[in-house]
Amino acid sequence: MGCDFRIRKEKMDKMEKMDKMDKIVFATHNKNKLEEIRNILTNYEVVGLRDIGCETDIVEDSDTLQGNAKIKADFVTNNYHLDCFADDTGLEVEALNGAPGVYSARYAGEGCSYHDNVVKMLEAMKGITNRKARFRTVIALNLNGKQYFFEGIVNGKILEEEHGDGGFGYDPIFQPDGYDETFAEMPMDIKNKISHRGQAVQKLVEFLQL
Ligand code: IMP
Repeated sequence: MGCDFRIRKEKMDKMEKMDKMDKIVFATHNKNKLEEIRNILTNYEVVGLRDIGCETDIVEDSDTLQGNAKIKADFVTNNYHLDCFADDTGLEVEALNGAPGVYSARYAGEGCSYHDNVVKMLEAMKGITNRKARFRTVIALNLNGKQYFFEGIVNGKILEEEHGDGGFGYDPIFQPDGYDETFAEMPMDIKNKISHRGQAVQKLVEFLQL
């Protein structure tokens, strides 16, 4: 009986807390990204696009990361009248004048796989000695009628062949400065701590939890 009461009370406390928490949308369909941010941003009720009934594949047609993050955040705020944040990431390779940058997801063509992109990058970098590259994430936040941007950067280099099978995207060929392993060889918690996205998210969280 005592136990039953405690469970009911915990449930009510939780509901009350949820009621009081500000709701914020993360403009993504990606469940992993959503779960990751929910675990960090604990004083907000973070919901995804699907949770607000948005099935739209928002067209990201800007030629900058900032522009694309803004397009996604503005789409939600303008159409659903909710506070929202959105991210966009690119791999910027110095010897390729910053390419693929904003086109990182479709570097090897529309509908290509992560591995197609890796193969294309290794080919493009064949014989090039300057291997410097960086990942950059920009987050756009619309909050109470104002817009803010947060950026995270991790510098590193493009290897000549793939190493490791963890992570995703360009991880097997990207080695961050100060480490002997690629992102694909690293434990996920270490990657998340030092990565472009990790750093941008950290800035967002610090801002929201002030
Ligand atoms: P998005 O903006 O997070 O969807 O990232 C765009 C593209 O950048 C992805 O499709 C990947 O190809 C690449 N990318 C983003 N983040 C990472 C990462 O942490 N490791 C490797 N590749 C990434």
